[in-house]
Amino acid sequence: MSTDGRLLIVGAGQAGVQTASSARELGWQGPITLLGAEPYPPYARPPLSKAFLSGTATQDRLALRSAEFYSDHRIDLVLDERVQHLDLAGDGTGSAVTDSGRQRSFDRLVLATGAEPRRLPLEGAGLAGVVVLRDLDDASVLAGRLAAADSLVVVGGGFVGLEVAATAAAAGVRVSVVETASSLMNRVVSPVTAEIVASAHRAAGIRVLTGLRPARFVGDGHHAVTAVELDNGEHLPADLVLIGVGARPRDDLAATAGLHCDYGVVVDDRSVASDGHTLAVGDCANLPDPSPGPGPAARVRLESVDNAVEQARAAAGTLVGAPPPSRGVPWFWSDQGSLKLQIAGLARPDDEVVVRVGKRPGQHTALRYRGPGLVAVECVDSPADFLTVRKALTAGVELSREAAADTGVPLKQHLSAALTSAQR
Ligand code: ADP
Repeated sequence: MSTDGRLLIVGAGQAGVQTASSARELGWQGPITLLGAEPYPPYARPPLSKAFLSGTATQDRLALRSAEFYSDHRIDLVLDERVQHLDLAGDGTGSAVTDSGRQRSFDRLVLATGAEPRRLPLEGAGLAGVVVLRDLDDASVLAGRLAAADSLVVVGGGFVGLEVAATAAAAGVRVSVVETASSLMNRVVSPVTAEIVASAHRAAGIRVLTGLRPARFVGDGHHAVTAVELDNGEHLPADLVLIGVGARPRDDLAATAGLHCDYGVVVDDRSVASDGHTLAVGDCANLPDPSPGPGPAARVRLESVDNAVEQARAAAGTLVGAPPPSRGVPWFWSDQGSLKLQIAGLARPDDEVVVRVGKRPGQHTALRYRGPGLVAVECVDSPADFLTVRKALTAGVELSREAAADTGVPLKQHLSAALTSAQR
């Protein structure tokens, strides 16, 4: 495999940066250009809804790598430049035209274009004070408005919405969360875990409304939002509204260039797209479920730091012709106020739940079973359980429901013998 060509990585988020750094580390010899549309050096997004929003972490603390890292690794970091069109020759080479009018030719291309926040096509959605959160500019706007806000309505009870709700409540803002499903974070956790989290938010003074959605946003004469009208007719006063209803993959460039896209750039387990050459990583990719275990892999799209890093490492291996790196079970985390939620494995809504209540108040571990097999774990303030079960899921070590339910014995103890033999 030739590693001396020009590598172009479009998108300078977590996945793009990791691809550049892993490709260099694994021996890519040629020029690497990492192109980002945002004007800021690559930064971590998870703190945007937490430490950055609360003011405890400034922008410079979010940087993914130091400025020297890029020069030391001969990575040409190009910021504030957006690719508008791609031409693919069919053999992996091609060119990209950017909004500066510049044409950049490449020998291999990696798409790491991320996802963009969904908005709601409702009356009043364009009012001042109705905002989304995805990037640093969004976070700066939100932080500025939050400082002057009395009441925030968060639409969507997913990670982003709940993290912002917790940060805002801690800052003394009156907060309501409106979630259309019957439980919070219904895409990722079981209702029983969602209820533990909902109770914690209620205890912090947040009003949590499920099974409801906004019908329209109400404004004043100055085009500023003043309330959210729900589909049951209730009006929630709001001088700030955060729409946190998920994100859609930015796959338009890839689709226009002729790559197969299906709500994300369709890739294989080595991050290779339908032309057999172009790679796609991170939030923009639609990949085979990487969970260990037999059976045909369903396709998934994963928005997580873990997936960005793992897919990028796989892509870098593909670029240099290295054997595929081993990958752990997918995992996620969400810090909501003082509550730490950690999830490993991809559960489906009908997977069974075995709950373990921890020793300290608020500790909770829910193990998810499909048939006889353990498939996922959801932990609230239980990092030891999370680490143990994450390892067990990756190693394919089984844990019976009876053992899972036996809270007299720590999970670590149940699993350590099997884990030790699996790791030998
Ligand atoms: P994010 O990354 O933005 O947190 P998620 O997909 O994890 O995205 O969560 C978004 C949440 O928003 C889901 O729980 C979903 O049910 C909820 N949601 C989607 N549309 C609406 C809506 N119109 N009103 C209220 N909640 C919504």
